Amino acid sequence: MRIAVVGGGLAGALLAWRLRGTAGLCVELFTGRRRGGWDATAASGGLVRGFEPAPESCRLAALSLAELRGSPGLRTCSGYRETGSVYLLPAGVDPSDGAAVVDELLPGSVTVRSVGELTGALPFRALPEDALAVVEAAGGYLSPARMRQAVLHEFAAGGGSIRAEVVSAVSDGPGVRLGASAAVGYDLVVLAAGPWTVNLLADSGLPAAGLRTKLIQYTLRRGGPPALPAFVDDVTGLYGRPADDGCVLLGLPSDRWHVQPDEIQPDPAFPHRVVSAARRRLVGTTFDASDGRTVAGCDCYTDPPGLILRSTAAPGVLTFTGGSGGAAKTALAASREAAVQLLAMAAGAER
Ligand SMILES: Cc1cc2nc3c(=O)[nH]c(=O)nc-3n(C[C@H](O)[C@H](O)[C@H](O)COP(=O)(O)OP(=O)(O)OC[C@H]3O[C@@H](n4cnc5c(N)ncnc54)[C@H](O)[C@@H]3O)c2cc1C
Repeated sequence: MRIAVVGGGLAGALLAWRLRGTAGLCVELFTGRRRGGWDATAASGGLVRGFEPAPESCRLAALSLAELRGSPGLRTCSGYRETGSVYLLPAGVDPSDGAAVVDELLPGSVTVRSVGELTGALPFRALPEDALAVVEAAGGYLSPARMRQAVLHEFAAGGGSIRAEVVSAVSDGPGVRLGASAAVGYDLVVLAAGPWTVNLLADSGLPAAGLRTKLIQYTLRRGGPPALPAFVDDVTGLYGRPADDGCVLLGLPSDRWHVQPDEIQPDPAFPHRVVSAARRRLVGTTFDASDGRTVAGCDCYTDPPGLILRSTAAPGVLTFTGGSGGAAKTALAASREAAVQLLAMAAGAER
């Protein structure tokens, strides 16, 4: 049984590693050669937590965080830092189902608090009185790029094949084409090419089936509050976490859809927007809007969001993308579940 995984970002690397590790299948991972290795995994802010408002994302995030925290190897290789996490929710969003999922998988980590209970305890201000906060002791941030590097190393050491080649198209069969050469056949082909998946499907004459790209950017600034947990403020969209060298990472959602992943540039107005949003929401800031660094990347989005296997119009060709800006926190569990599904498909094909 031969499986080709196209794309060596966090999704493809973890999937190939799971497939090789759990079943010892013949897995070939095509990693491409793009922008000096710059991809969503390299750009990622790496915020991780258990809670997500969407139930399926919450289940995968909490499972992933439980696996990460339970594995000294994964914690170390990913540079995991446990700062805790706060998720601020506007009125009308009930977090109790998600909080129950987190509590089951990470017992004692999560509490839901009103704004009144937060005052003075955490560095937020000007919150609507009816907002709620999901506060987690577990969670924080990691380096998806370091985790990718470690699992690729283990994948290769365990006999997996890594090919630093760009797949030009996939075909029925299923098969993979490199440049203008004839397609090489596999039993299953999985496109885990992140935001490039959209172009790869088009180049293969296949519909994008709801997958699309969107710009994501954040800025790194000095002058944040001294004790900042990883946080998401769903009232304004602001998110952030502590970073190295006394900086904080601060982001806001963008609305730039359908960007080309090889042509991403930071938006010059972004740092001013995000710093002014952070000054309004965070206490004790001394930001200098002109001093810092802004990082831009893009990810593959879909509705409903989620890093899961999806079939395509070509039999035997699947996609494993669609993390929609959040797959660093779900990729461990998502790749485990995808590997189980692929093994079941492979076993079915053999019978
Ligand atoms: C700026 C930014 C900040 C983020 N912050 C967070 C966060 O704080 N928390 C969180 O949970 N998530 C975050 N995310 C999302 C998360 O990082 C991504 O969902 C995840 O890394 C996606 O990984 P991927 O493997 O699907 O895609 P990618 O990392 O983009 O990998 C795709 C790979 O496919 C390769 N490829 C492309 N085309 C081909 C081809 N034809 N042949 C062979 N290889 C090919 C590319 O070279 C690339 O290496 C962020 C994303 C970005 C961009």
